[in-house]
Amino acid sequence: MSSYDYNELLKKAEGTFSKADKRESRLKIPEPDVLYEGKATIVRNFGDIIEVINRDVQQVSKYLTKEFGIGANIDGKRLIINKKVTQDEVSSKINKYMEIYVKCYECGSPDTEIRREGRTDLLICKACGSQNPIRPTRDIRTSEADVEEGKEYTVVVSEVGQSGEGKASFKGYTVIVPGVKKGETVRVLIKKIRKSVAIGQVVKK
Ligand SMILES: [Zn+2]
Repeated sequence: MSSYDYNELLKKAEGTFSKADKRESRLKIPEPDVLYEGKATIVRNFGDIIEVINRDVQQVSKYLTKEFGIGANIDGKRLIINKKVTQDEVSSKINKYMEIYVKCYECGSPDTEIRREGRTDLLICKACGSQNPIRPTRDIRTSEADVEEGKEYTVVVSEVGQSGEGKASFKGYTVIVPGVKKGETVRVLIKKIRKSVAIGQVVKK
């Protein structure tokens, strides 16, 4: 292969990367535009937020009602929460919603849809093709940084591969954990990360 071809390949790869970046930035949720009326919190740009999230507005408001423990109603483009909450609290609930109902559990892509199969809601990823039952209680720490080598995380083993190693989905990574059983919740130390695969060593079961 000539050096020219090699440069071409690099260019192509860069094109792919910047496309991925653009997709990622599409995910940027507008900051909630919050104001207070009496004891209620109004999110004035809720409609814009919903548009980015790309989910049913009623479903999202139902989720927020549950999370805030008080009524959250839609009024045109606005959301009215019947108590005072801060902008940060609204942001973090919306991020949590994204982690559960929007972002693919395997690859982190927001390019997903929800499909009901029997009694299970599946999160179907159009980017990587994975299908995962929606887990409203999954371990979410949105404020935490990305998965890093040398750090510990708590993961749930979702399956055990043919050669006996456990697999867990965590923050868009597949964490490989030797010596565990399916369904176990374990604390792992991340030994190595390669692309979207992380190798974890159990530190506590
Ligand atoms: Zn995916």
